[in-house]
Amino acid sequence: MTHAVAIDRVLTAVEAGRDELLAFTASLIRIPTVNPPGQYYRECAELIGERLSAWGMDVEFVEAQNRPEHTPEHPRVNVVGRIEGMALRPCIHLNGHFDVVPPGEGWRVDPFGGEVRDGRIYGRGASDMKSGLAAAAFAIEAIRRSGFSPSGSVEVSGTVDEESGGYAGVAHLCKAGYLTAQRTDYVIISEPFGPERICIGHRGVYWFDVIAEGRVAHGSMPHLGRSAISDIGVLLYAIRSRLEPELASRVSVMPVVPEEARRPSINVNAVWGGQVSENQQSPCVADRCVVTFDRRFIPEESLDEVRREVAEVVAAVEQEEEGSSFRIEDRMSVLPTRAPEGSPLTSALSTAIRRVRGCEAELVASPGTYDQKHVSRIAGVDHCVAYGPGPLKEAHQPDESCAVDDLVTSAQVMALAVLELVG
Ligand SMILES: [Zn+2]
Repeated sequence: MTHAVAIDRVLTAVEAGRDELLAFTASLIRIPTVNPPGQYYRECAELIGERLSAWGMDVEFVEAQNRPEHTPEHPRVNVVGRIEGMALRPCIHLNGHFDVVPPGEGWRVDPFGGEVRDGRIYGRGASDMKSGLAAAAFAIEAIRRSGFSPSGSVEVSGTVDEESGGYAGVAHLCKAGYLTAQRTDYVIISEPFGPERICIGHRGVYWFDVIAEGRVAHGSMPHLGRSAISDIGVLLYAIRSRLEPELASRVSVMPVVPEEARRPSINVNAVWGGQVSENQQSPCVADRCVVTFDRRFIPEESLDEVRREVAEVVAAVEQEEEGSSFRIEDRMSVLPTRAPEGSPLTSALSTAIRRVRGCEAELVASPGTYDQKHVSRIAGVDHCVAYGPGPLKEAHQPDESCAVDDLVTSAQVMALAVLELVG
């Protein structure tokens, strides 16, 4: 069989299964796998497992036994399907998370209905990212229906908790040896960047608290104390007037979208201080105030530099404001990551996008992190990108949806890329 005939067969097999793919996506949306707290994970993993096994895969359920969030009430259950070809390598792993954020307000359709209307499928997870997971699984099935068995191996996983860091999900699969450089060559995470975009990586994160210590006193005699809240006020102004312009002057070469996110950023996530609640008056000078910051950084900045720069601003304010006292406490950090330049994975997907969508792929990078960090850091697999249907801008929004045509064509793109890499 010529290459062109093989491609046509696979594309036809995906198209012929359009209704089946759509029904599978809808059945995933109908399970409200809301995180937090992480509901119905077992039910959803079992539904995916049944389907993968009906599609000829060996299926394993992987529970995150050692994680504190894995509880009898809310078990963290992941599912992995595998087809081995003539050889174990190369091995491509397609991953999607099946947890979704809570629906929130403002829906005009049932967020867990999986309704199809005017060529779009609706519901929480329609974009982020049950469509992507269904498309990835069906891509593999379409290859099988076309009569091919891969020369390498192919895996599909459905994982939990991406929305809360992925520690019991992809990170657990990496630590438990399901996703490792010893076994895995390529990873596609089918996050909703859209059918014509390949996401090659993401920016870094540095989350930290600054704690101001003041001196308590009666609120009627503030001169006897020192307000930690006022000190934090000065610090916040310094962050805005000194650090923010500096950050705005830096631009990454990484193609982060939206364009504004190509520059580093800092956000004040929260401020805590003073009386315990609105309704409980306590006439005191606040002796403690805590601010949580979320600093996003570009690959051109190192985490050490990022931390030092923050510490310098804090130290400068401490010097200028006599009597003020600040302490920095790190919460967590994630380094920026990106697939290597010229990765065979990126070029296989680009070729497939050209063939299926008739356009050049747009390479993008994500302003926020997703499970790619675990794949590169823990598993040590660098050839990892995100590719999947669904408009990114509808993720986490009311009336979240995905175009049915995008669902089908992105399954076609994934199928062709898999065929090229391990066919
Ligand atoms: Zn997602």
